[in-house]
Amino acid sequence: MPEGPSILILKEEVQQFAGKTVIEVYGNSSIDFDRLKDKTILSFKTWGKHFLICFEDFTVKIHLMMFGTYRINEQKENAPRLHLGFSNGEINFYTCLVKILEGPVNQYYDWSEDVLNENWNPKKAKISLDKIPGEKICDAILDQNIFSGVGNIIKNEVLYRCFIHPESLVGKIPHEKIDELIAECSIYSFEFLYWKKKFELKKHWLAYSQKECKRCNLPLIKKPTGKKNRRSFFCTNCQQLHS
Ligand SMILES: [Zn+2]
Repeated sequence: MPEGPSILILKEEVQQFAGKTVIEVYGNSSIDFDRLKDKTILSFKTWGKHFLICFEDFTVKIHLMMFGTYRINEQKENAPRLHLGFSNGEINFYTCLVKILEGPVNQYYDWSEDVLNENWNPKKAKISLDKIPGEKICDAILDQNIFSGVGNIIKNEVLYRCFIHPESLVGKIPHEKIDELIAECSIYSFEFLYWKKKFELKKHWLAYSQKECKRCNLPLIKKPTGKKNRRSFFCTNCQQLHS
């Protein structure tokens, strides 16, 4: 599943089409394709895992969900959800959600919630966490309205770095640990971005899909946790359960 940093890489890869006019548009999504034809792309934006193609009075939102993919200047065998053709190339999106957002894009998104955005606001995340003391941290950290862009890999790595057990209750975790965790969500996301661009992300994983805790030389527990039931990898020896 693409996490926030992967969507930021997509944004960098499509910069060749910023300011270009859409000369061909089709796909098997249900949006009104005529809206896009002969329109000029003003910019590309991201909010967490949302990829946004901004036109003058509307925005096309692409959500790659669990299995979404894209191709730039090439096509896959299956039909795209959305194909955009330009004088200098093409973008194709597959197995994703496509939606048109009418009007200014700023009315739909709070950029301060995105851990990779220049307007990311850790204080706001703290206020949001203070409102959900009974939630498990493994669910809270995946809440896209608190930590937009954080996915399951980032969740596992951040909790491991901060020595926090994924089933800890938000309200029971000491304040300084919460501050550290909030900071790491953004720091690790930028490291994820840096490593992914160098095609070496996996070798830096300390918890995600790992079998052993490198700090304790003990087996890591692997199990679905929280209401979201997403897979967690953790060490019961060095990751403290706050409950
Ligand atoms: Zn350990």
